[in-house]
Amino acid sequence: MKVLLVEDEPRIARGIIEGLTREGFEVVHATTLAGARQVPDPDLVLLDLRLPDGDGLDFARELRATSKTPILIITARDEEVDVIVGLEIGADDYLVKPFGVRQLLARMRAVLRRVETEEKPPQEVIAVGSLIVDGRNRTATLADREISLTPREFQLLTCLAKTPDVVVDRATIFREVWGGEWYGSRKTLDVHVGSLRRKLGDPAWIETTRGVGFALRGLQ
Ligand code: CA
Repeated sequence: MKVLLVEDEPRIARGIIEGLTREGFEVVHATTLAGARQVPDPDLVLLDLRLPDGDGLDFARELRATSKTPILIITARDEEVDVIVGLEIGADDYLVKPFGVRQLLARMRAVLRRVETEEKPPQEVIAVGSLIVDGRNRTATLADREISLTPREFQLLTCLAKTPDVVVDRATIFREVWGGEWYGSRKTLDVHVGSLRRKLGDPAWIETTRGVGFALRGLQ
């Protein structure tokens, strides 16, 4: 398991490298975007956003254009807007610095489990009104128009479309879409719901039940 760590802060990088190496991960460390671009086929990317030669989001965008490699953003507390953009680009999750190695490992395992479930996707085709969610080729169409979704958005839509008009609770969504336990990153789910709403076109189609979860409703 090769982890690409893109982080220019030596102290933070050292802690992560030590912790992950102890757990048996191979860690390749890049301190710049240019360095990160040289690393072939990582299995998972830990991505700082403020880097000496540019914005980590650019690298996330490049990576997402060609691969589904899981991306975990590691960020400082004042970069909230960047995190939201990162999740919309297709990063899987984020961690706010400083964090412990245990917390990082838990988050990495959740993201990796998600990838495993994705590798053997359900071959089902779900139709809700004019929405067709096709698990065979991972496409979604609405009234014959294809909707361009990130892997997480696709899984979220699948999760909600399986039981239209039923409120799916947050824990269930997190388990099905991210393949893991709830680690408290509420915002990750909210951001994905927000961008899925925009892509579907009518925000009312994904209804929020406050404190519980979300339901797909009203699609015809
Ligand atoms: Ca930095």
